[in-house]
Amino acid sequence: MGEHHCHALGCKAACPPRWLMCRACWSKLPADLAAEVYRTVSLRGNVVDATWAPWWRAQAKAIAYVAHLKEPNEARRDAYLRKEMAFADKLESRVTENTYDSGGVE
Ligand SMILES: [Zn+2]
Repeated sequence: MGEHHCHALGCKAACPPRWLMCRACWSKLPADLAAEVYRTVSLRGNVVDATWAPWWRAQAKAIAYVAHLKEPNEARRDAYLRKEMAFADKLESRVTENTYDSGGVE
């Protein structure tokens, strides 16, 4: 069984699979962003499709936020967010769920 790690950029701390981030990183999030991740995680369906888009955006914003605190770099943060938001847009435009290989999603 592979160990799950914190998704904050540059953080290698182990954390339970159902957590997006380790406790130390999660505690840095503003309450509204943390609430958005909590709210949207329950919207996700069993397969990675349009239902995942709101959560994808929320987790990307959370990850970018923590990364920016640790190592401020607006260009990098914005590039990361653009890429993640584009992926969420793609999820929403996805018509069939079967064609998607969830193994490609980190
Ligand atoms: Zn962490």
